[in-house]
Amino acid sequence: MDQHVIDEIIERNDIVDVINSYIPLKKTGSNFKARCPFHDEKTASFVVSPKKQIYKCFGCGKGGNVITYVQEFEKISFPEALRKLAARAGITVKQTMQSKGKDSKRDLIYKIYELTTGYFSKNLIEHGSSALEYLAERDIKDETTKKFKLGFALNSYGGLRNYLLKNDINEKILASTGLFTSNNNDLFRERIMFPIHSSAGKVVAFGGRKLHDSQSGGKYVNSPTTDIYTKGNELYGLFDTKYTISKKDQALICEGYTDFLRLYENGYTNCVASLGTSLTDSQISILRRFTENIYMLYDGDSSGRKAAVRAAGKILGKGCNVKIIGLPEEDDPDSYIRNNGATSMQDMIDIAKPLAEFLKDDEVIGVDKKGKLSVLFDILNEIEDEVAQELLIQDIAETYGLSGHAVASKIRKKRRTFNKESEVTEVLKTEQFREEREIILLIINTYQLKTFT
Ligand code: ATP
Ligand code: MN
Repeated sequence: MDQHVIDEIIERNDIVDVINSYIPLKKTGSNFKARCPFHDEKTASFVVSPKKQIYKCFGCGKGGNVITYVQEFEKISFPEALRKLAARAGITVKQTMQSKGKDSKRDLIYKIYELTTGYFSKNLIEHGSSALEYLAERDIKDETTKKFKLGFALNSYGGLRNYLLKNDINEKILASTGLFTSNNNDLFRERIMFPIHSSAGKVVAFGGRKLHDSQSGGKYVNSPTTDIYTKGNELYGLFDTKYTISKKDQALICEGYTDFLRLYENGYTNCVASLGTSLTDSQISILRRFTENIYMLYDGDSSGRKAAVRAAGKILGKGCNVKIIGLPEEDDPDSYIRNNGATSMQDMIDIAKPLAEFLKDDEVIGVDKKGKLSVLFDILNEIEDEVAQELLIQDIAETYGLSGHAVASKIRKKRRTFNKESEVTEVLKTEQFREEREIILLIINTYQLKTFT
């Protein structure tokens, strides 16, 4: 590609607009700032200069121009990033044969997912009367269906396959799209389709829910890992809710598609779904780019509560603030809002509790005080970040009326049994460390009061 075309692409894509379409930027003086999308950090050290049309992270050192940003963020090649930005600015670029060949498999799979999303949407309108009935029965608005591009997979073994072939997709690629079984049949059949968007807004996977209990297979079938999708790396809904999450500086995490949609429809647009109950570290890292204040809003049953507690431990370990919302045992966010109305969800959010207190008051999980403390100690022992650990020690101590020392000694003891020559214990004893710790805690406590009320 000619240099002058590259220059034109850079000129016509303002770096602030482009980066802001991936992550929310905040204006500070003549520059813009954000939490760095390329490494984990608590404070924003990622700076974008509109004047110089460059970005630089003072934490991890990454920096560059609008093209390198797109390249790095989307993990695509230089020519791919160029083409994307050219398209964004409406510049037509002639492709060389070579770059066409390299025009990675990933781009093709993205395209197939886009086509497939369209196909499922079309099915819903044209052949999905049973699916539409189902959605209506569940009280999901048409507007929501459109916004999140819900669709319908026909009860057919080859519908999608034929549609893609008709749209000039080469048969050879189909096996690596994750949309077909090993016998080349359509994977999703007779299901309501929920596209899963990446945080940049591309469809990268699907979840399909069966319509009738009598259908074979699990309640949900999800896309397998592919070149464009790693399970546990995406949060359902985030592409749409990341701005609200950032603006409100608060996120709600629910379990499922329908919980998410119900919350969203009722004005809780700072929500994401973890899809299943094991929130991963990678999901927390992604969410943390937008806020450090997280509310766990899982199902009210024992498994939902247990999962919320586990997730809360992980969130604390990542240095974020977390509270847990305890729904009634028989409810999930979807049913809770349906039964009690949107405003009573806000009441539940308002009385959300920190981890230790939530566990202490819980009567659903079914463990006694000793069991609860043991859960908390396990979580404590998994947290590596010392400040996060201290905060939890404090929380446990206050909640259960124990001395901080007693709680702390509990972990040290456990640590010692794991790790015989514990240098850590020696360090913990020194006066210098204690002072440092107190200062850090003071800072954190002040900060927390401001951000998590
Ligand atoms: P619904 O309201 O449609 O019954 P839900 O959202 O309440 O669904 P749950 O059974 O609470 O679903 O499960 C929560 C989430 O876990 C689902 O939205 C889905 O992402 C995932 N999930 C549930 N069952 C399965 C399954 N059999 N296979 C894969 N994922 C599943
Ligand atoms: Mn549920």
